[in-house]
Amino acid sequence: MTGSNNRTPLIAGNWKMNTTAEEGHALAVGILEGISARAVGFSTVGCDIGFYPPATSLGLIADLCSTFEGCRVLVGAQNMHAETSGAFTGEISSAMVLSCGADSVLLGHSERRHVFNETDSEIGAKMETAVDAGLTAVLCVGETIEERDAENTTEVVGNQLEAGLEKLTEAAQLEEVIIAYEPVWAIGTGRTATPAQAQEVHAFIREQLGSAFEKRGAKGAGHEKTRILYGGSVKPDNAAELLSQPDIDGALVGGASLDAESFLGICEGCG
Ligand code: PEP
Repeated sequence: MTGSNNRTPLIAGNWKMNTTAEEGHALAVGILEGISARAVGFSTVGCDIGFYPPATSLGLIADLCSTFEGCRVLVGAQNMHAETSGAFTGEISSAMVLSCGADSVLLGHSERRHVFNETDSEIGAKMETAVDAGLTAVLCVGETIEERDAENTTEVVGNQLEAGLEKLTEAAQLEEVIIAYEPVWAIGTGRTATPAQAQEVHAFIREQLGSAFEKRGAKGAGHEKTRILYGGSVKPDNAAELLSQPDIDGALVGGASLDAESFLGICEGCG
């Protein structure tokens, strides 16, 4: 359901390094069939959904979703390189993502930042490449537990946001961005931010986006249209309360996105 703010919620599954092509196909079919079967709630416009499968299944999943009419489906990569081609063994480019039929990419996920040591400036460069290529870029930000305990959450998130958006110098480019707030301490830990904790950071992010749009000369309130997703141990039993917060416009889901029924249960939390 589109709320009074006109932002259609997005429930996106980050499958990480899980699912073979066959398994991913079965998972996506299960979810799409589940959406079609649930006439009440979101069969047409209740929420958008997103699949972020491993790159090896991107084409297959994009193909499968291309004819689906039950709701809007974003299909995206979990990462990509900032350069458009070249000697970068093992990497994929924005054009490759697009050529699979995908339309989105996750950038700056905490596992990319903390396991693969991606820096803010690398993420900023990827954001520019992705948006320039026409992809919907999902910029992930979030603090570690040490940073939260030291009361540095807004500073850390503010810096990640600024660096991630730095190279997007036009307001129109910012319109192609979705933000995912994912406190690192809540990812894959079973520990979720309380709705109030999440809302507080989401409101801060929206305020920062307001300044970012303004700095780029935007006339309207572009930041009121930007979707800000929450991620971190979202499950069917905690989704509705998180999603009812005024600045939480959906969820980026890891573990629970690997099971069709749990993913659908989270979608139902959109009301
Ligand atoms: C994620 O990886 O983006 C995530 C939020 O994972 P989980 O839902 O498993 O905490």
